[in-house]
Amino acid sequence: MNLPPARSGEDPWTPEELAEVRGALEEEITALRANLADAESGLAERLTDAVANAGDDPTDTGAKAYQREHDLALTYNSRDLLAQSERAIERMDAGTYGVCDSCGHAIGKARLQAYPRALLCVVCKQREERR
Ligand SMILES: [Zn+2]
Repeated sequence: MNLPPARSGEDPWTPEELAEVRGALEEEITALRANLADAESGLAERLTDAVANAGDDPTDTGAKAYQREHDLALTYNSRDLLAQSERAIERMDAGTYGVCDSCGHAIGKARLQAYPRALLCVVCKQREERR
């Protein structure tokens, strides 16, 4: 497996360090998939409830709709995080992990250990946030 590039001034990656980051991402992927499966079955149940209780007190229906929206938002976030984590693993396999998507320079070891899903180096990230 290719090791990601380190930034100048950083120690080069070791296979152990990369394995650690990868292991953490893989654990997260497993947890996110489980959460999503739960959330989806919960949502399906509540949707059925909402239909069954269509004649209910409107306040109650409002609370349920709110809960459903909350669940949906969580599901979207988890899905997003899951996709990003999977992408990071794919990049490790492809040997492009740790290379900035925008400028092609090293994202840096310290940054990836803190944000293993980072696709941009700090400079490009800041530029993007300013836009
Ligand atoms: Zn960059």
